[in-house]
Amino acid sequence: MHPRVRRFLAYFLSVLVVGDAEALVPPAPPQAAAPSAAPALAAEAAKSYLEIFQAAPELHFSTADFERARAALEQGRKTCITRFQARAKDYDKQITASRNELKRRTSTLDDAARHALHCQIQNLTLLKEESQVLANDAIPTAYENRLAKVAILQNWPAEYVKTRAQIADGSYHQRRWGDIKDIGIREIATNQQDDIKTGQDAVREMKATGLMPNAIEDPAVAGYVNRVAQDVARHSDLKIPLHVTVLDSKEINAFALPGGYLFVERGLLDAADNENELAGVIAHEIAHDAARHGHQLMRKATIASIFAQAAQIAALVLTGGVAGVGTAYALQYGFYGLGLVLNLQLLGVSRDFELQADQLGIQYAWNSGYNPDGFIRFFDKMATREGYVNGVGWFRTHPPFYARMVAAQREIMMLPPRPHAVEQTSEFESMKAALKRIETEAAKQEAGRPSLLQVETGCAPPQKAEYKPGQLIENLCAAASSR
Ligand SMILES: [Zn+2]
Repeated sequence: MHPRVRRFLAYFLSVLVVGDAEALVPPAPPQAAAPSAAPALAAEAAKSYLEIFQAAPELHFSTADFERARAALEQGRKTCITRFQARAKDYDKQITASRNELKRRTSTLDDAARHALHCQIQNLTLLKEESQVLANDAIPTAYENRLAKVAILQNWPAEYVKTRAQIADGSYHQRRWGDIKDIGIREIATNQQDDIKTGQDAVREMKATGLMPNAIEDPAVAGYVNRVAQDVARHSDLKIPLHVTVLDSKEINAFALPGGYLFVERGLLDAADNENELAGVIAHEIAHDAARHGHQLMRKATIASIFAQAAQIAALVLTGGVAGVGTAYALQYGFYGLGLVLNLQLLGVSRDFELQADQLGIQYAWNSGYNPDGFIRFFDKMATREGYVNGVGWFRTHPPFYARMVAAQREIMMLPPRPHAVEQTSEFESMKAALKRIETEAAKQEAGRPSLLQVETGCAPPQKAEYKPGQLIENLCAAASSR
């Protein structure tokens, strides 16, 4: 991924999600009598989940306001996706034309002209895939996230009142796993130790298929992550030893194989802003193991069959066959299909299991002394910034944003408050510094490595300016369509 493209995407989504509220408002009908509440509503829906949960009970919008906001978002999504699909098609035509030219002139081209054509095809491919990823992943994810926020603005006031009533009359203790004072003593799933062998087999298979990135050994990174994870594990319902590995991969992901084998990828450490967020994600993964979700999902499949499938998916990523994830895109991001296949096959295939891991993870983070909102913060950030590519597995396999966020917030409300919760630590900062060095080194090595995608070397990166800073989302889509 060229840094310019990456900047473009980051900007694109920040405009879409944080952007000017006016951008999402349909033009008012000329005979409208009362002033529209649409701009105010759109502005609220552009805030973070935590701000929205706070503010929603005090806000008063009408059903018609919500209908209008939803319609505007649906319209925006459709328009924007259609335009980027058209762009991808257009690039595809240009690629075909360039290939034909190459074929036609193959015997007469001098080296310089051939090089120029090769570079052109290569760059057009990258641009095409960028448009495809925007249309298939980035735009839908960002709009789903925004629609969930509108739904929360509309429905949370009633949910909030209901939750408060449950807390007031004590009935909240009766919820699933309401016995939070017994974490570690209570039994979430029996016979966790039976998963250890499965986990060991899975680790061995993963190494054998070549899907496992190298481990990072640096104590400031690996040692630190291990300490955080072990501390969360001690305050969880996991009763078997936890093995923690940090993987040298750009994917923003963490996953737990059955039997206490936790893997945290470098991209996730890079994307986390504080220890609280990191602990929130780790707690969620530990919850999957404590509840033995992998075991339940794997009853029908063997480890070997799962990893045979993993190797196939990795091959599909390499040949561009995975829907929505461009080849160039995927590989330049270090997206090797690992997170995707593990999430699908071992961890996140079930919507119920995700909701369970959310609830337990929030409890474990809280029980370890963290602010239990770390997971929501990280999730929000993933959906609006990085989520569109690196974390694509997250959003493919997880339940709808609305259900998930409301359930998480309800659980947080039901936990006793933590006035001195841990947010940030100096160890986290040291880990970030060490990580910078590792990333710089990895980028240097990657630059020199031959790639299936950048066969032609010495090409200038694609010249393009998709946006001007400060531009509104419709203008961006309009600009895209007029080319
Ligand atoms: Zn999960």
